Amino acid sequence: MTIFKSLQPPIEMPWHLPVWTWLFDSEYSPLRNVQPGEIKGFTNAITKEHLSYADLKTHSTHLSTALVKKYGLKQGQTVALFSLNTVWYPCAMFGTLRSGGVVSGASPAYNVEEMSYALKTAEAKFLFTVPGSMAVASAAANNAGIPQEHVFLLEGTMAGFTNMSELLEIGKSYGISGQVEQFRLPPGKKNKDVCGYLSFSSGTTGLPKAVMIAHSNVIAQCLQIRQITPSTLRKILAVLPLFHITGLVHQLSLPVLLNANVYMLPSFTMDSMLATVQEYKLEEMLLVPPILIRMVRDEQTLSKYDLSSLKRFSSGAAPLSAEILDLLKQKFPGTGFKQGYGMTESCSCITAHPPDKYDYKYAFRVGTIVASTEVKIVDPETGKECGLNEPGEIWARGPQVVMGYLNNKRATEDTFDKDGFLHTGDIGSIDEEGLITITDRLKEMIKVKGIGVAPAELEDLLLGHPDVEDVAVLGISDDYSGERPKAYVVLKASSSQRGDAKTIGRGLIKYVREKKVRHKWITEVEVVDEIPKSPSGKILRRVLRDMGKAGKKGV
Ligand code: AMP
Repeated sequence: MTIFKSLQPPIEMPWHLPVWTWLFDSEYSPLRNVQPGEIKGFTNAITKEHLSYADLKTHSTHLSTALVKKYGLKQGQTVALFSLNTVWYPCAMFGTLRSGGVVSGASPAYNVEEMSYALKTAEAKFLFTVPGSMAVASAAANNAGIPQEHVFLLEGTMAGFTNMSELLEIGKSYGISGQVEQFRLPPGKKNKDVCGYLSFSSGTTGLPKAVMIAHSNVIAQCLQIRQITPSTLRKILAVLPLFHITGLVHQLSLPVLLNANVYMLPSFTMDSMLATVQEYKLEEMLLVPPILIRMVRDEQTLSKYDLSSLKRFSSGAAPLSAEILDLLKQKFPGTGFKQGYGMTESCSCITAHPPDKYDYKYAFRVGTIVASTEVKIVDPETGKECGLNEPGEIWARGPQVVMGYLNNKRATEDTFDKDGFLHTGDIGSIDEEGLITITDRLKEMIKVKGIGVAPAELEDLLLGHPDVEDVAVLGISDDYSGERPKAYVVLKASSSQRGDAKTIGRGLIKYVREKKVRHKWITEVEVVDEIPKSPSGKILRRVLRDMGKAGKKGV
């Protein structure tokens, strides 16, 4: 059996602790070992609003007291977070975890339908949002049966809704002795048995699913990444969305463990991001390929800022081309580069570059296997385990591999095998240096600007259109977004009454735009005679993709 093991020393897992206790109130807590004046925190890089980790501990205590005592939050209930990046997001997250609740982040770009689906799938009972997202949030909460008094504001004020500062006052009013006890693991349970988070991913096939992330998964990933993070790293840029697994781990949890300052940007602009690097003299930027691509090509904006503090770039979530890596190296001579590769189902990284490989010569590969993790590379056709430099599907096993999908036994069994290996749906190989290269994607998922899009979701929508007989949606390569969705459509005979294929194609593009968030928009429609399918009715995406490569272009 060919199992590739991590070259790093194994991590020691505190299996008996839930996340909040581990980070804020145990012998592992960084707050115990630093002087009060040295405690770092979350800062809004634009408004300068700051929340230190010491304040966060107090606030999350008050918040959990308010949620449990006044609003009746019970252990295991889901609290949804629907917001752009704000320093109050971690307060809601850690307050929920301290109560024994489950945190479920959702993209602030979702429309009512998408958010309703997220709330229902995660069985959310409470919702935190911001004023700008309240219209969508309250309509979705209504659809999902969440009462208005359980919809809270992270910041700002709005008539009829309780906000964070009011919640903190409510919690405080119970007095020191009245604070609710921090969540403890039930007798006989370990932190790997208790779900702390639900994040969304379409996995290898089908609609987006709620991924059950255990307390132990986040702890393991933080320890795995700390081991390969320079001990001098004290400043972290948080421009990536907090709801994604990268945000949850690398921008919200790991920084507390490292006692590092986090500089949050509520929304991305090239200027505000580069101004933040300049102002706080950041040494590292954690980005996704589309931002890196825009940055290296935006000479004019780059030239306005002193970015000499930068020592390295970090990228993940999607592949990066050799051309962009070359440009980055040219524009920022002397910098290093690292990648992380993984998925929501592996609570972020399966591989990452350790400090001795922060070099552009390793940058095209996605790093080495993180601690306490094993990888198999399996030929998808024959099921045979591959050796060095032989491409196959990447399977991974380790303490960061999640519990499964909520209420979806079938998808769980298809993705996580009985030996504990996660079948990633990514094709790659491993070389003599232990570095993994990702070469292809076996699964359906489309990655648009680093965010996963489920073709099944768009196919379901398009099948509901009166002109569509059959459809398959695929990702096609895009210079900026990495990929973008394209629909291959079989039209109904009756559709010809409504115009030619081009007009109908344009109509379908508009139809998706009206119903889905931007990164899911289809940008091209190709009318075909039939969708190639297996005898069991499964779309043969590879056959379609090869047809696409043969060169026909759609509307
Ligand atoms: P998500 O669950 O949204 O994080 O998406 C996970 C998927 O993103 C993986 O299965 C890969 O297909 C892709 N991915 C993540 N990191 C990388 C990387 N460094 N290089 C290439 N693809 C990546």
